Amino acid sequence: MKDDAARNQQVVEEEILLQGFVDHRWIQPSDLVVSQWVRIKCMYGCPDYGKNLSCPPHVPSVVECRDFFGEYELAVLIHMVCDAPTVQTHEWVRLNQQKLLDLEKKVFLEGYERAFLLSFESCNRCSGCPSTVDGCRFPYTQRPSVEAFAVDMFSSVRKFGYTLNVKKHKGEKADRFALLLLK
Ligand code: SF4
Repeated sequence: MKDDAARNQQVVEEEILLQGFVDHRWIQPSDLVVSQWVRIKCMYGCPDYGKNLSCPPHVPSVVECRDFFGEYELAVLIHMVCDAPTVQTHEWVRLNQQKLLDLEKKVFLEGYERAFLLSFESCNRCSGCPSTVDGCRFPYTQRPSVEAFAVDMFSSVRKFGYTLNVKKHKGEKADRFALLLLK
C-alpha cells in the first residue's frame, strides 16, 4: 500500500516537471496559515471584489476554507516568477493557468480523486466575467486563487523556505504561488 502511494507521488512529480513547474515543494496543508485578514483585504481595497466568480464573496467562508484544508494531508506548492513585460502579463497568466489545470486533470486521472487546484490568480479565462454561477462560460475549469481561500501567503510560503515581499514598483518581477491539493 505504501509502495502504491510512493509510486503515485512519483508519477505526480513527473507530471509537474513535464509541465515545466521545476520549483515546487511537497507540503502538508495543515501547515498553511489561513487568516481572516486575508478575506478582509479582499473585501476592502480590491477593485475586483465581487466582480469575478472565483473571488470573494462567491467563495466559502474563512471557517469553511480552514475546514476544507483540514480534509487534505498532501499538497504541492508551486512557485513561478512572472517576468513577462507588463503588456504580456495577461498572456503569461492565461498560459500558466491552463498548464495548472492540465496538471490537475492528469493528477485526478492518476487516481487522486480529491485533486483540486487553487491557482495563483483568480480565473481570468474570459474578459468581463459575469460573476454569476449561471453566467459562467467554463464552469468545469473555474478555480479560485489560493488567496481567495484566505491563505496568508506571506506567512505560509515562509514556512516552506520561500520569501515573499510586497512589490514596490510596477515593473518588478512577481513571485506567484499555486497550490495543488492531492489527498
Ligand atoms: S470561466 Fe469566465 S465566466 Fe467563469 S469564472 Fe472564469 S472568467 Fe468568469
